[in-house]
Parts: sequence; C-alpha cells; structure tokens
Amino acid sequence: IVHLDDVTRFFPGPPKVFALRGIDLTIERGDYLAIVGPSGSGKSTMLNALGLLDRPSTGKFLFEGIDTAELSDDERAALRGNAIGFVFQSFHLLPTRTVLENVMLATAYAGVPKTEREALARESLTKVGLDHRVEFFPNRLSGGERQRVAIARAVCTSPRLLLADEPTGNLDRQNSEIVMRLFEELGEEGLTIVMITHDETVAASAKRRVRMQDGELSVIA
Ligand code: ATP
Ligand code: MG
Repeated sequence: IVHLDDVTRFFPGPPKVFALRGIDLTIERGDYLAIVGPSGSGKSTMLNALGLLDRPSTGKFLFEGIDTAELSDDERAALRGNAIGFVFQSFHLLPTRTVLENVMLATAYAGVPKTEREALARESLTKVGLDHRVEFFPNRLSGGERQRVAIARAVCTSPRLLLADEPTGNLDRQNSEIVMRLFEELGEEGLTIVMITHDETVAASAKRRVRMQDGELSVIA
C-alpha cells in the first residue's frame, strides 16, 4: 500500500534540519508497523508524509501505486480523506458535540446521507466498546474513552491506512492496554496500521517494528 524509495525531508532553516534521510520502506496491506525512536528523530515528520499532510523533499513515495509527487494539493486532500485515518496523542474532540456527533463529523463531507453517517458512527463506537456513551459530551469521558472515540472517528470512514502518533501518550497503563488491544484487533481484521509509540509494550503488540534515529530507519530484530 505504501512504498518509499530514498525519501528525505529537510527544513530549510537556518539551521537546515534533515528530519528524514534516505528512507526506504514498503508497507504491505494488512501490515501493522510500530515506529519507535527518540524525540526529534523524525517520527512525526515520517507519519505526516505517509498521511499526505506533508511532501517529501526528495525521493519517491508511492501510495497504492500512485506516485504522490504527481498529485495536486486537492488530489492529495481527496486521497487522504478517502483512504487515511489519523489518531493523535491529544484526542482533538469537539467539546460542544456529543460523542456520536464527533464521530459523525468524520463523514460530514463525503456526501453520505445523515442516517447512514449515524449508522456508521454507531457501528464504530460499538467496535471500540462505547455504544453506552454515544450521548455523552467529551468532558464526561475518561482519557481512555476519549481516545477510543478518536479511534472510532478515524475508522468510521473505512480507511485503508490508519496512522497513529503516540496514541497512548496521554493514557495510564490500564487505558493504554485497552487502546493497544483495539489496535491489535483492527490489525487482525486486516487494517493497515502505522503507529508511533514510546511504549515498548505497545510496540510489542505490532506485527513489525522499526527504529527511527536521526532521520534514518532501521529494522528492529
Ligand atoms: P517527538 O518524539 O518529540 O514527537 P519526532 O521524532 O516526532 O519527535 P519530528 O517532529 O519528526 O520528531 O521532528 C524531527 C526534526 O525535524 C526535529 O529536529 C524537528 O525540530 C524538525 N522539524 C519538524 N517539523 C519542522 C518544521 N515544520 N520546521 C522545521 N523543523 C521541523
Ligand atoms: Mg512526534
């Protein structure tokens, strides 16, 4: 689904920062890849590139066989909306909307009828075990529940690639484990997942692990 060939990303500066250097990576459909590495090593830059939020400076990035360098910004945005789901460390839920409404917003621009959007949202919320929380506002949820809402929101569009940047970074051990198991389940269902994590236990639950260090990727044995 993803193929990177000698991808770099540098920020002009000054000082000029090489955030990604010579990245070669192939991600097969159904893969669940964990990226670990120290702060500032380029992990988020990598995920932003994979998520079509940012363009590599040099190198080739194929998404489902499409050379992403040849896509316009609009085409990239359309592909992103259609194919990619995101989960971040902070949950980014709208405080004035209920859980159900927050998840429904993910499909608001897809030309899907409201009844169908609601059904999709309820289905995703059931999947993350929150069908009893649909009418709650986010401030009444625990951190772990909020992250599960964010995951429901990310998967209710049926993405083909799920990207997660430190999804357990704000959670305690118990909630991390719930979220980790959820990702495991999604991986077992065949969803392709790339997750950044500092947490070794969470990384261990992925099918495959790589380390990012000074902008370079290496495989963890
Ligand atoms: P953390 O674990 O702290 O989130 P990270 O591995 O995600 O770190 P990145 O955010 O990818 O690290 O940053 C990699 C390097 O690129 C850092 O040196 C950072 O300062 C630099 N960088 C990232 N984004 C930009 C930007 N928009 N402009 C300039 N430099 C940037
Ligand atoms: Mg980061």
